[in-house]
Amino acid sequence: MARPHLLLVAAALGIAFAQPVLAAAPATAPLAGNPLATASTLPFQYPAFDKIKDEHFLPAYAEGMKIHLKEITAIANNKAPATFDNTIVAMEKSGALLTRVQTTFGNLQGANTNDKLDAIDSEMSPKLAAHQDAIYLNPKLYARVKALYDKRDTLKLDAESKHLLERYNTDFVRAGAKLSAADKEKLKELNGKLATLQTNFTQNVLKEINASALVVDTREELDGMSAAEIDAAAAAAKAQGKDGKFVVALVNTTGQPPLAVLTKRKVREKLMAVSLERGSHGSQFDNRQLVLQIAKARAEKATLLGYENFAAYSLEDQTAHDTAAVNKLLTELATPAVNNARKEAADLQAVVDADKQNFKISAGDWAYYTDKVRAQRFAFDESQLKPYFELDNVLINGVFFAATKLYGITFKERKDLPVYNPDVRVFDVFDADGKQLAIFLADMYARGNKQGGAWMNEYISQSSLLGTKSVVANHLNIPKPPAGEPTLLTYDEVTTAFHEFGHALHGMFSNVKYPRFSGTSVPRDFVEYPSQVNEMWAIWPEVLANYAKHYKTGAPMPKELLDKVIASKKFNQGFKTTEYLSASLLDQRWHQLTPAQIPTDVLAFEAKSLKDMGVDFAPVPPRYRTTYFSHSFSGGYSAGYYAYLWSEKLDADTVEWFKEKGGLKRENGDWFRSKLLSRGGTDDAMNLFRNFRGRDPIIEPLLERRGLTGK
Ligand SMILES: [Zn+2]
Repeated sequence: MARPHLLLVAAALGIAFAQPVLAAAPATAPLAGNPLATASTLPFQYPAFDKIKDEHFLPAYAEGMKIHLKEITAIANNKAPATFDNTIVAMEKSGALLTRVQTTFGNLQGANTNDKLDAIDSEMSPKLAAHQDAIYLNPKLYARVKALYDKRDTLKLDAESKHLLERYNTDFVRAGAKLSAADKEKLKELNGKLATLQTNFTQNVLKEINASALVVDTREELDGMSAAEIDAAAAAAKAQGKDGKFVVALVNTTGQPPLAVLTKRKVREKLMAVSLERGSHGSQFDNRQLVLQIAKARAEKATLLGYENFAAYSLEDQTAHDTAAVNKLLTELATPAVNNARKEAADLQAVVDADKQNFKISAGDWAYYTDKVRAQRFAFDESQLKPYFELDNVLINGVFFAATKLYGITFKERKDLPVYNPDVRVFDVFDADGKQLAIFLADMYARGNKQGGAWMNEYISQSSLLGTKSVVANHLNIPKPPAGEPTLLTYDEVTTAFHEFGHALHGMFSNVKYPRFSGTSVPRDFVEYPSQVNEMWAIWPEVLANYAKHYKTGAPMPKELLDKVIASKKFNQGFKTTEYLSASLLDQRWHQLTPAQIPTDVLAFEAKSLKDMGVDFAPVPPRYRTTYFSHSFSGGYSAGYYAYLWSEKLDADTVEWFKEKGGLKRENGDWFRSKLLSRGGTDDAMNLFRNFRGRDPIIEPLLERRGLTGK
């Protein structure tokens, strides 16, 4: 199913057309001794994490923006008439230093932040927004882009170059290049304001997750958790100066993993309550006012640019194209999904009633009783699976193994490159011909200074114009076991590892000329497609047999257990689809408002929206509530949370293709790679799909998978 978690695509980091160049410019005086001043001399320009210090970022940012603006001004003021080379290609080559600083900083701040980095983030966000505006709203520069765009058919450009020119024209128009001078000033003000508001929202979410951790007084209250987990909770309490107490850390979704095992109903309810009230209970990290301000500023921005609302503005540039298409998909699926969830709730209630307990199933009970029903119906529970999902096995013998079978690529761990945290692992990735393709970083463990969820990002993006190959990272949030204990994953975490590696493949296989089109630079409602396809290999028999081995005995996972896992795949889909759809619908609701329609009460608006859309089923709350919905309010997936389901239509259809063609075979992998994974954003995304599949996507495989066919 969809993995609703963050993927940081380059565009979300805020810079559109600047990437590192191989020819290192000499370090300018303000950056003497600053390792960010020039491209790293490590393989593939891998960042020199051991030399980069927090204090290097601000001066490098300042210098990077200065140089970039100088380059852009020279392009805009060029006396020679605009040519594709002196304008578009020149922009593609510009901003090397700024991109280097921004990608390194953005990735570190997401994965390994501290107060200093947070402060830099707050300081830089509005400055970077202003920097972007200084480029896109430069009239002379846009005049050159438009002159070229208007005669694009006569320029004899190859397909990728022509598509790039069209892309630049669209980027400029969408950024406000056609506005009057007065409106441009208003837009700049809004962009600066939004940058600050979104940064504050993001920082509040992480701080609130840490501040809201559940604290209990006794071991007994945590009954159901493993001894190791309870010990970890005791250690966490001690580290926070709460000796003798127990601290249960939260994850960023509404659902919290311990809810599945905690036997004490009171504790479950308390845990669910602290999770649900994040950002909206008057703490110092309350996000309610920020939500209203962000929604208003976005609505105003959309109005200024000539759109009915922010969603309309955002969706126009996606494969979905408009709000009507998104509303249609989400609302059509909502009713059958909630109906499924109500049936599931009845099954859970039956267990409660059979136990002669007198309560109605609530959100906090869902996971616990779901495990009981699963155990009854399929005769297994999660705890039986975990010993077969040891991290190293999953990564090396599962994720990597599947990629080797499909694409012929191989992996070799290296320990000589510096890392920003000792848990980060680094692998050289070799193509089938033996040549090195990329460097892959695996940052798998949860930390208090790491954003929640899982995501992929790139430190260096592939571009033949710049002579770069990719340095790509996967980030997960797997709880780290005590020293000496194995890291055993849940089935969900295994799926997430395959998912994120699907994004990594999209980055590593990129074979494009221009940095603007590298790897995952595709519409947001398309980018989750390759990653979701890669999830299929987690339970492909040949792959599973290779990695799902008992961590102690090495015995393979018994076939009966595997069969049960597969048979149970549609189990609990009502819950999963409903919690996802209600979050997606909320995201649309907030972004389909005009400035005048922005409400004054966040929680009241949320409640009314869920009710209006028929997804107000209290035992299944949204996967994210408004005040901790980073996808929606931090910038990356605003009006775009639907993208997972939208992409899943392509994913489910592609899974069928792989099955029809015999599954895990090189020829299948090579076809997918050549038609899709290697193409980045060089063509219209749906064209890429059609070239791969031979036809338009159909929705039936998705409905079947999610149990929404009414059968
Ligand atoms: Zn993803």
